[in-house]
Amino acid sequence: MKVIGVTRDDDGPQLLERERPSPDPGEALVRTLRVGVDGTDHEVLNGSHGGFPDGADHMVLGHEAVGVVEEPNGTGLEAGQVVAPTVRRKPNGETNDYFRRGEPDMAPDGEYTERGIVGDHGFMAEYFTSPADFLVPVPESVAEHGFLVEPLSITEKANEHAYATREPFDWRPESACVLGNGSLGLLTLWMLDQEYDRTYCVGRRNRPDPTVDIIDEIGSTYVDSRETPVDELPEAYEAMDYIYEATGFAPHAFQTVKALDQNGVGVLLGIPEPWEFEVDGGSLHNEIVLHNKCLIGTVNSHVSHFEDAVETLQELPAWLLDDLVTTVTDPEHVEAAFEDGDDQIKAVVEFDSL
Ligand code: NAP
Ligand code: BGC
Ligand code: ZN
Repeated sequence: MKVIGVTRDDDGPQLLERERPSPDPGEALVRTLRVGVDGTDHEVLNGSHGGFPDGADHMVLGHEAVGVVEEPNGTGLEAGQVVAPTVRRKPNGETNDYFRRGEPDMAPDGEYTERGIVGDHGFMAEYFTSPADFLVPVPESVAEHGFLVEPLSITEKANEHAYATREPFDWRPESACVLGNGSLGLLTLWMLDQEYDRTYCVGRRNRPDPTVDIIDEIGSTYVDSRETPVDELPEAYEAMDYIYEATGFAPHAFQTVKALDQNGVGVLLGIPEPWEFEVDGGSLHNEIVLHNKCLIGTVNSHVSHFEDAVETLQELPAWLLDDLVTTVTDPEHVEAAFEDGDDQIKAVVEFDSL
């Protein structure tokens, strides 16, 4: 079968031929429909994040997948059922407390692998196997965009954790700001715009630009970080109740503290490389304490977040899906999915259709 992998020779994504896998007990065989590409895949390719499976000379890429159950293999799934796989797996198949609790997203390093990212092959293959517990049903009506369940689940978790920090008091947020106009940022912006009175999205692009068009169409305010640095948002617009960082631009983590309104919460998603820069730690500390601010980090997501994401996917408007998906390519032309010019938002590798 065809797979898209990266080899230790560092030649970018390659079309490779591998044997079709056989499901172990408890696993199903899935025929892959589509696999999305995100910023993390680029970080994996440039070596700044993730790592190969132990001893392997290549890693199959891809962690945002949708497929159809080909062989249920006695798992209780049905042949022909559309599913989206979660990303984290037990290291060497050995369980631990995090997996036993159904919270692999909270596991520390070494107690998980991530398919297509760290220590495990991904889903960019004509077929893949997975424990049935990690395959979340997706309605056929949204199968075409089922690869978005994974990124949407990331925001379902981020929001759940961030809002949990504000539960002890009567928090009445009105304004939200997304840092980053990549695919994760734009999906999140739409989600937040359903909840908040006023939304903003920070990028660093000149108009005309397809991501800024989406921001406009959502009805949010576009902020150019070259003109308005994040910590100047309160003076230029307003202090934000909620900030969702999806740039991986490390200074944003700290600028967020200043940009938050009192009692606000900032949630960090980006995965930067080590980067030293100066910050006024005293002011940050003071600001967080005296204004009840909260900054949290969040990674990955588990089955219940995928289930919430399936609901959200069904609500996404057709125009947004059309504008967001800028490339659909077959495995033979996979380079197109990894081009990252300003006209690329969400690229998808299509292996098969329903
Ligand atoms: P992406 O497509 O690379 O998007 C990042 C966006 O941030 C780009 O549009 C980029 O703009 C913008 N940006 C970068 N620096 C900026 C700055 N200084 N000012 C304004 N905008 C800036 O990545 P993505 O897939 O949306 O993901 C976003 C980040 O979240 C990545 O770091 C990814 O690894 C991470 N992530 C984390 C999780 C998690 O579980 N925590 C899950 C998914 C993704 P330009 O394109 O104009 O450069
Ligand atoms: C993936 C997550 C993963 C994270 C860190 C993200 O792009 O969507 O599932 O946990 O990267 O590797
Ligand atoms: Zn991702």
